[in-house]
Amino acid sequence: MTESQNKLFAQAKQYTPGGVHSPVRSFKGLHTTPRFIKKSDGAYLYDTDDKSYIDFCMSFGPLVLGHRNRIVEDKMKQALENGWSYGACEPYSIELSKFLIEQLPFIDQVRFVNSGTEAVMTALRLARGATNKNKIIKFNGCYHGHVDSMLIKAGSGLAGSAESSSAGVSSNVAQETLILELGDIDSVSKCFRDHQNQIAAIIIEPLPANNGLLLQDKSFLQFLREITKKNNSLLIFDEVISGFRIGMQGMTGETQITPDIITYGKVIGGGLPVGAIAGKKEIMELLAPIGPVYQAGTLSANPISMVGGLETLKQLNRDSYTFLNQQTNKIVNIFKKWFQEYNNGEFRSCKIISKESLFWITPDDTIRSLVNFPENLTEIFLPLFETLLSKGVYLSPNAYEIGFCSMAHDDSVILDLEKRLWN
Ligand code: PLP
Repeated sequence: MTESQNKLFAQAKQYTPGGVHSPVRSFKGLHTTPRFIKKSDGAYLYDTDDKSYIDFCMSFGPLVLGHRNRIVEDKMKQALENGWSYGACEPYSIELSKFLIEQLPFIDQVRFVNSGTEAVMTALRLARGATNKNKIIKFNGCYHGHVDSMLIKAGSGLAGSAESSSAGVSSNVAQETLILELGDIDSVSKCFRDHQNQIAAIIIEPLPANNGLLLQDKSFLQFLREITKKNNSLLIFDEVISGFRIGMQGMTGETQITPDIITYGKVIGGGLPVGAIAGKKEIMELLAPIGPVYQAGTLSANPISMVGGLETLKQLNRDSYTFLNQQTNKIVNIFKKWFQEYNNGEFRSCKIISKESLFWITPDDTIRSLVNFPENLTEIFLPLFETLLSKGVYLSPNAYEIGFCSMAHDDSVILDLEKRLWN
């Protein structure tokens, strides 16, 4: 930790709460201050002291091609010369929508917004508008952005009861969200029996990736599909993380289970602020201006974000996903070896759960829900994170966040990783 980083953090704290514009960047609980990044390239971040880091956070996921992919950069520069926001119809979003609809056979239409949170907010409103019901089932451990009704944790009473996990969320809003445990089929059935004709939708990250990486059985997702259909409720897959990470078609493609609404974010904008709601025409056309469900956005589908997203996605193909998977496996194996060897096995208890280009360091690689979540997670993670940071290896700065690899994590970066770790 250097003087200059401390100084910047002190300054930032003066001007903004906690010095950060998103809490997970704050390095809370760590014995060091956040690094102030002045530039990035490929798989690397560079702080204001010119120290380099191999980046496994990748802006929390969007940068699947790595930082400053040159094709994306050039196309965005070209687009910039034509203007960056028109507040009017433009051709850029047609191209991105067309690309998505060709790649994702399970959707007919898409509406662009500016973040994953906005996408979820709209999806929930759409589900309520489509069903004329109010309650939403959400699973403990899934994160869906900072929408009021999603900042809810399990209550201490009956299964399904809930209370807000943030100050400022009204108890009336909290009551409309029913919290259940991942994988618990019986409690989902019971919840539908207890709240007959009241449940608008189930929302789930089909690959829960916000409290570690909690791999779900396909049979559970299939069950959610069936029970929502049977009860005239909708199924929402929140693919903000898994979209375009688990292959081009995300978890919807991998499982061949088609939800009614899908939310996207992160990779869909290639590092620019983009979110999206997608689904079949019957549901999507309930949105304004055709339907009664209102949704709007001053900067939605601005040309730079649309170009950033399109030029990112166009570079992904079957070979890219094979490469991403292969590089992630190599990186995971290197970490696993290092955990055993470093400082006489200081991190021996660390294991890794990974899927495609996502990985999570955990003391228990068998966990699938928040029940039995390792209590010592943070205790183990903090010294690990600080050791890696000092070696120039940057993980997402929180034990619950996962790691991300990118197309820029090639063999030269892997060699560099080995050098940094064993140095
Ligand atoms: N949904 C999921 C699954 C997410 O992981 C996130 C963010 O991490 C969001 C929604 C919210 O997206 P954003 O941070 O772009 O608002």
